[in-house]
Amino acid sequence: MQVIVQKFGGTSVQSEESRKHVIKHIRQALTKDKDSKVVVVVSALGRKPKPYATDSLLQLVDYPTNYNSKRELDLLMSCGETIASVVLSNELKKHNISSMALTGAQAGIVTNNEFNHAKINHINQDRIFKEFKDFDVIVVAGFQGQTEDGEITTIGRGGSDTTATALGVALQAKRVEIFTDVNGIMTADPRVVKNAKPLNVITYDEISHLAYHGAKVIHPRAVEFAMQAKIPLRIRSTYEEDGGTIVTSGKSYQRKRPLNDRVVTGIAHQSELTQIRIQTKEEAYRLQSEVFKAMADAGISVDFINISSTEVNYTIPQHVTTKAVEILNELGFYPEVLKECAKVSVVGAGMTGIPGVASKIVQSLTDADIQILQSADSFTTIWVLIYEKDLFKAVNSLHDAFELSKVNYIKQDFVIER
Ligand code: ADP
Ligand code: MG
Repeated sequence: MQVIVQKFGGTSVQSEESRKHVIKHIRQALTKDKDSKVVVVVSALGRKPKPYATDSLLQLVDYPTNYNSKRELDLLMSCGETIASVVLSNELKKHNISSMALTGAQAGIVTNNEFNHAKINHINQDRIFKEFKDFDVIVVAGFQGQTEDGEITTIGRGGSDTTATALGVALQAKRVEIFTDVNGIMTADPRVVKNAKPLNVITYDEISHLAYHGAKVIHPRAVEFAMQAKIPLRIRSTYEEDGGTIVTSGKSYQRKRPLNDRVVTGIAHQSELTQIRIQTKEEAYRLQSEVFKAMADAGISVDFINISSTEVNYTIPQHVTTKAVEILNELGFYPEVLKECAKVSVVGAGMTGIPGVASKIVQSLTDADIQILQSADSFTTIWVLIYEKDLFKAVNSLHDAFELSKVNYIKQDFVIER
């Protein structure tokens, strides 16, 4: 027996019509692959205002001004995926596919007790393997798990991706397929860049950078799980028969076609950021040691940190600006605060050691009259902070500058197996 994991996002499972495509892919995995069983991971049905979408459920308790504990929010939010698992399982049976629905907890997913953002600690595979004796398909509610002492938890937005790859690792799946509403990983978010192109192949490293810097097509933690266990990952459209993007470590694919023949692979962006700038004269050390500890203690995630002897700069999500400034004032720091910023990240494993990438970025943003507020780089990524009002223009200018719309995408049915 071999296990295939397929994950279907919210829009893919939102209607009976879209679920017909879902069922077709499940049937194909059962018939095309010999002696296979399928674990299907589902997100909640559609997006707000659909009644069982996560954000619609939260409205029932007037989130975020509600009186519920985080624990109770998790109880509530987990219902969306549980409902989706039963609805899909019901339709699979109607189509003569033997299927059983399980919550994350029943599927053996054990998390820590950080409600709303829990981490998967381990997965007990026994239940799923036991049910595979009687059923061909197990539909698992994504985005949720259970603590050691039986509390229901959720694992953060985009968490169903992580449920899928974590199950893929635990069940030693032949492959994990992430089905969504676009054709795969694209050179940029197609909602921002009209002529963005899907990529045939991408490395784990590149996709984790794109995901970490805001490409929400897959959750970064999901990539980490797949990468560690080298589980083949394919991101593809629910509405297409074939195609999509293969995520690989690069080595096996490079024999056919070198991955590093491209300098830039894709562009990610993240909006609604606030830049915090704190000047200091003598207290630089106290500043750097106290500020980041205070932010961490308050659960505020910081990014884009630049430290010099006279200044500390960093970004935070815009919605926590007031809280962050209050904390800094209490410490005796009075920051300059710049709201409505956005981060644009240019990612490519092939840029390492290639001169001129950064200058090309600066040049094309300058030509487009876009001011760079801050910048940073690593081996595979160069990122810049800009005003949010320039975001659309910036992503499109960079996409043009690196000629990403000329990427040659070939729609094919990949055979990649571990
Ligand atoms: P799902 O509900 O299937 O998980 P998401 O909305 O979470 O779907 O992710 C898919 C969306 O991610 C796409 O509709 C697209 O707008 C967005 N996206 C952002 N960056 C990229 C990218 N580089 N490639 C593909 N999609 C992207
Ligand atoms: Mg998603």
